[in-house]
Amino acid sequence: MSSFEYNQAPLRVVFGTGTLSKVPAELARLKASKPLILCTPEQTFQAEKVEEIVKLAQGITPVGVFPKATMHTPGNITDEALEFLKSSGADSLVSIGGGSTTGLGKALAVRTGLPHLSIPTTYAGSEMTPILGETVGGEKKTRSDPAILPTSVVYDVDLTMTLPPGLSATSGVNAIAHSVEGLYAQNGNPIMSLMALEGIRSLAASLPTIVSSPSDVPARSQALYGAWLCGVVLGNVGMALHHKLCHALGGSFNLPHAETHTIVLPHALAYNALAIPEVMQKLAEVLPGSDGDAIKGLNVLLTNLKVKRGLKEFGMKEEDVDKAADIATRNPYWNPRDIEKEKIREVIRRCWAGEEAR
Ligand code: NAD
Repeated sequence: MSSFEYNQAPLRVVFGTGTLSKVPAELARLKASKPLILCTPEQTFQAEKVEEIVKLAQGITPVGVFPKATMHTPGNITDEALEFLKSSGADSLVSIGGGSTTGLGKALAVRTGLPHLSIPTTYAGSEMTPILGETVGGEKKTRSDPAILPTSVVYDVDLTMTLPPGLSATSGVNAIAHSVEGLYAQNGNPIMSLMALEGIRSLAASLPTIVSSPSDVPARSQALYGAWLCGVVLGNVGMALHHKLCHALGGSFNLPHAETHTIVLPHALAYNALAIPEVMQKLAEVLPGSDGDAIKGLNVLLTNLKVKRGLKEFGMKEEDVDKAADIATRNPYWNPRDIEKEKIREVIRRCWAGEEAR
């Protein structure tokens, strides 16, 4: 085995069904008595449920709900939330939602030093990372800082039951993408690879069931467990071509986050395949229907999930393919295979057209 370095970020996790009832105890652990609750407008109903539960606890008085979390953490929303937070006298943050809401929680926590309890409701995995992407003046800037990592995380499977099947599928593949790239990360290690493979195995087994039976509790539980593991991988090792492509495409052409990850993953993996034969073999072992071919396994999974396969279906224009190739090959992340602009252009064209990866 080659040498490696391993860091374990200090973060407490509570996992299960009905765990929302444990939020007051978790806040008490953090010595928090005046939490501000964050959510998107669509998830106000879940935030209000948290508020109700917390209100019943002795010694905790929530200061209110800020229901304006937005994709890509725009600076104006963070400024507004910060003002609300300061005037409310909040001593802690509770974010309930997907990566957009977790992002707002992180943005506020890193600015104020307040403890941040994250309650994820998608499979994006942001709650497990010290990474924050913020958009100011139309430009998304990403930074990493230990102070960005939430203080504790409550996973409640019940909250994921309302995640629509389509978003469950793409959000789950977004999680799988973190683990796929974690398997060939330059700073990867055997512990992260264990988590990555278990995360992919859990999601690949459960997501098709969720799409056909969204109320299947064991499948929902298995998917959330897998998403947690994939989030740990994202937070601990570096990402490569796939994530660079998705950042370039999502940031420049306003493409939806999870859907873009879903379309790009098989193509980015196919580009890298020859450079990572052992990873391809391990991946094939955890992807049902692969017949020993990881790309085939991903194609089978995406077909079963009934997801859209072309970026053009989300409004990307064919003439944007060249621009995307320019952006994606500028300041490239480390990647197991050299980045060749013409070949990357072809990868992006295939993603745009919705062709099957091979
Ligand atoms: P999201 O948070 O934007 O949620 C998408 C929509 O689904 C929202 O309207 C939300 O309210 C709704 N939703 C979420 N959970 C629901 C549920 N259980 N029931 C019903 N509706 C629900 O989507 P996302 O994919 O989780 O997050 C994407 C954002 O997170 C992007 O900005 C991305 O850059 C960021 N992200 C960051 C990291 C990181 O480590 N920093 C990791 C992953 C994603």
